[in-house]
Amino acid sequence: PFQLSARVRTLKPSSTVGVLSRALELQRQGVDVITMSVGEPDFDTPPHIKAAAIAAIESGRTKYTPVNGLPELREAISAKFRDENGLTYAPEAVTVTNGGKQALYNAFFALLNPGDEVLIPSPYWVSYPEMVALTGALPVAVPTPPHSGFLLNPADLEARITPRTRMIVLNSPGNPTGAVFPPEVLRAVADLAQRHGIMIVTDEMYEHLVYDAEQVSIGRWAPEHTLTVTGASKAYAMTGWRIGYAGGPLPVIAAMHALQSQSTSGASSVSQYAAMAALTQREETAGFILTARAAYRERRDRLVAGLNALGLRTPTPQGAFYVLADTTPLHPDEGEAARLLLDEARVAVVPGTDFQAPGQVRLSFATSLETIEEALQRIAQLLGEQP
Ligand code: PLP
Repeated sequence: PFQLSARVRTLKPSSTVGVLSRALELQRQGVDVITMSVGEPDFDTPPHIKAAAIAAIESGRTKYTPVNGLPELREAISAKFRDENGLTYAPEAVTVTNGGKQALYNAFFALLNPGDEVLIPSPYWVSYPEMVALTGALPVAVPTPPHSGFLLNPADLEARITPRTRMIVLNSPGNPTGAVFPPEVLRAVADLAQRHGIMIVTDEMYEHLVYDAEQVSIGRWAPEHTLTVTGASKAYAMTGWRIGYAGGPLPVIAAMHALQSQSTSGASSVSQYAAMAALTQREETAGFILTARAAYRERRDRLVAGLNALGLRTPTPQGAFYVLADTTPLHPDEGEAARLLLDEARVAVVPGTDFQAPGQVRLSFATSLETIEEALQRIAQLLGEQP
């Protein structure tokens, strides 16, 4: 009676979700599975943020908001971009979306035509190539090798520019690599984007989760060529509230606004009031970030040391909360390695296949130290070694 669109027939469902459903199935069967596959903070949303949402509900601020977000929230985001990122985006040049994901989705549909090419450093977050492909544009991977700490070489990027290149997608700190691109790399990318007339979409969702490096926003150097995307999900442990935001050139923001007005009509009012508390009650929020960052750092150090000691080579990520471990000692194929880890060691990880990370799996350290210890012990057992 119906035929699915060509668009969705080529769309790949998220591989992260695939692993999760297999892990959940095992858990349903009563198997005790350790989940190292998720991409969300294990911390609770801080109390001052929850209180603002409760107050919004109780005072009836529960109706439609402007499609682009509450004016006072856009002002708070504009101030955040200025103070934290050194970016000048007037409140009119800011839009609020249903999570960072919808900001990216709107941006790709606002800027890309079928046949356009989009450069994406790889390993990459699986949603970029899928969303780009939905617009009819072509994702082009720009490999960054593990031995360089997954650092982008601007010359590799430039070598892949063709007359059809319209966009560069950057994600620093990166999922799944944890790479944080240094200022000189960002400056070089900004420079080549300006020279070639290419738009940069920079996904800075993990901007607050940096350990040994400083996160810098590329929009400083190429404001007319950059759309900056970030949001509340990872920084303030607010994944379920669905708040993202973007700042960029006015015509791009206007097009994203138009798309949003004909799709979601904007983000939840209650969540927007919560995000406003996160951005304006700065002292409380900064305290939360410091605590979370210290915990992530400790977990990262334990996980990286443990995996390397087991012979699974794992570079130390400078940001975000993931590591990519070389699982070739376990099995040459990362999908098989992930299957072994789940079925034999009862540790759920994500195979690197869809991230363009062959021979590697992604483990998240947004989980307790005890869980990390237990996971390491199980992996050690699987490898037939002592932890
Ligand atoms: N960008 C990256 C790199 C991510 O890892 C994620 C979430 O996993 C997102 C964007 C999406 O964030 P949100 O939950 O706010 O849509």
